[in-house]
Amino acid sequence: MKLFLYFLLLLWIPQIAVSQNYEKLRHNMVLHQIEARGIKHQPTLNAMRKVERHLFVPAPYQDRAYDDSPLPIGYGQTISQPFIVAMMTEMLEPKSTDRVLEIGTGSGYQAAVLAEIVNRVYTIEIVKELGEKTRKLLNKLGYDNIEVIIGDGYKGLAEKSPFDAIIVTAAVKAIPPPLLKQLKDGGKMIIPIGASSAVQNLVLVRKKGGKIYKTNLSKVRFVPFTRERSN
Ligand code: SAH
Repeated sequence: MKLFLYFLLLLWIPQIAVSQNYEKLRHNMVLHQIEARGIKHQPTLNAMRKVERHLFVPAPYQDRAYDDSPLPIGYGQTISQPFIVAMMTEMLEPKSTDRVLEIGTGSGYQAAVLAEIVNRVYTIEIVKELGEKTRKLLNKLGYDNIEVIIGDGYKGLAEKSPFDAIIVTAAVKAIPPPLLKQLKDGGKMIIPIGASSAVQNLVLVRKKGGKIYKTNLSKVRFVPFTRERSN
């Protein structure tokens, strides 16, 4: 019996060490990649210290989960660089009462960061298998304020609109009109816009008194926005 307990302990110790190591890497990520580059919004910083990014990337990439880069997540898609996630979250100025729409669920990491801050996140993914896999992960992690919808995000989610904020994490050529319509007056949208798939402008869109105001924030590289296959 005693021997068996020792054996269990031996199995357990490396796991604690690994998770403590990830926690240290995560705190360093926030300090050196995010705070050092000027992100100040405390709820965003807290969320990024909390959400275990390594759980959102495939096993072969887990030890690079806190690096300063995007990573492949399968299906030809990527999880965004941590700094980009932080910047997009901060620019939306999310509040605890907000309802947010995300287009491009991918790994679910951005949705999880937002869900730590806001009241509810609706996130749409066009790749069915990826959306289903991420839905399972988010359920397992206890995110009952995130709803993953499989479909073409171009149309948005009229039945749950208007949204306080909309975040698009795939590159569009132009803003899909349904998304503009579903943004609350006084709301904010952040979206990468560009004709080229190599580089786009990250644009902050604000709606005020029915008018639309756009500000270019920075150059970014996102995977392309795709449309539902008609066959
Ligand atoms: N926010 C994600 C980043 C995902 S990459 C994360 O945190 O990991 C962009 C995602 O947008 C991909 O998964 C891609 O399949 C999805 N996508 C592309 N076009 C889409 C569309 N029209 N509707 C919904 N999702 C789309």
